[in-house]
Formats: sequence, structure tokens, C-alpha cells
Amino acid sequence: MLRAMATWSGVNCGATRVSFAYANTGEDAPIEVRAVREGWRHGQAIAAHTDVESDKFSGAILRVVIELDATRRWSDVVNVPADALDLETVLLHELGHAAGLAHSAQTSAVMRAGLKPGHAPRRALDPDDVAGMCASYAAPALVKKDERSVPTDPGRSSLWVPRALALFATLAALGAGLAGWKGRRKARGISRSDPGSARADA
Ligand SMILES: [Zn+2]
Repeated sequence: MLRAMATWSGVNCGATRVSFAYANTGEDAPIEVRAVREGWRHGQAIAAHTDVESDKFSGAILRVVIELDATRRWSDVVNVPADALDLETVLLHELGHAAGLAHSAQTSAVMRAGLKPGHAPRRALDPDDVAGMCASYAAPALVKKDERSVPTDPGRSSLWVPRALALFATLAALGAGLAGWKGRRKARGISRSDPGSARADA
């Protein structure tokens, strides 16, 4: 998780730097990651799901819940087993959704949908991912007009501050949640997956 956060945090969009920070235990955070062990609501074909709640007027992201199906087999090694998904790849993708990004048609993009078990890990961002993030968060370009600087797109500029602030907020429930989940998964040896139809998310 920390690596996926660091990967997005390396994105530099001119004046704006993307940053995810990790919340301490008990600290409130707008992005929460849950390992779901029972009652998976998103169907067999979906391994991870991100819900983004945003303010309908400002577009500011208020709250994000990333859910991972803990009953599947997740991998943290370079050669992803044929029946597993790479945890870092999926978290990187879901964090993109958490920041408001949609899916990309670019096959090499982290934001491409439809990962299959045994896939090659995608742990680095594609230029398309960076472009998507910067299109959402870069400071609006300023143009000189009658000696005054005005945003080229006033609609977007009013969205920029709150949305950017949302990104600087912290992640909670993750340390305890994911660490506990991994430990429990190893201890019990739970790994159920559906190699034919499993996908990283919707
Ligand atoms: Zn997705």
C-alpha cells in the first residue's frame, strides 16, 4: 500500500504535486481501505471496488472506500501466480479511482480495467496515468488578459482547491486492516479465486 501511495505521490504536475499520506491509527481519514472477508457485494468477477463520494457542487472528493475481496489470492511477488492478482497493481489502480480518475483505454495504463489473475504486475505509472492525474489536479493555466491573470477555465479552477486538498488527506484503517488481513490469510491459508473470470474491478 505504501509503495502504491508513493508511486502516485511521485507525480509532479508543474506547480501541483500529488501526495497521499498515511493516517495514524485512530486518525480520521477520507480514504479507507477495507479487506472484505465475508459478504463480498461486488460479484465473482470483481476483486476490488472503489466508492467515491464527492460534493455535487464543488466536485470535491469527500470520502472514498476501497474494498478488496480478501477471499481471493493476492500476490506481492514479481511473478504473479496464475490464480492471483498483484496487490500493489490493484491498489495503485484503486488509488487512481480514489483520486477521481476513470478507466483508461491505454493498454499499458495502470488505470486500464480488467486485470486477469496471473497478469504482469503494473507497478509504475504510464504517461497516460500521469496525464489523467495532472488533467484533474494541475493548477489552471493562467493567461494574461488586460494586465490581469485569469484562469482559462474558471469552472475547473473553482474545483481545484478542494479536490487537491482531498488528495493531501490521509488513509486510515489500512495499517491494522491490511496487516491483520495478510496475517490471517497466511495463518488460515485461505485462497479462493476464480481464474477464468476474475477481474480487478468494475
Ligand atoms: Zn477500475
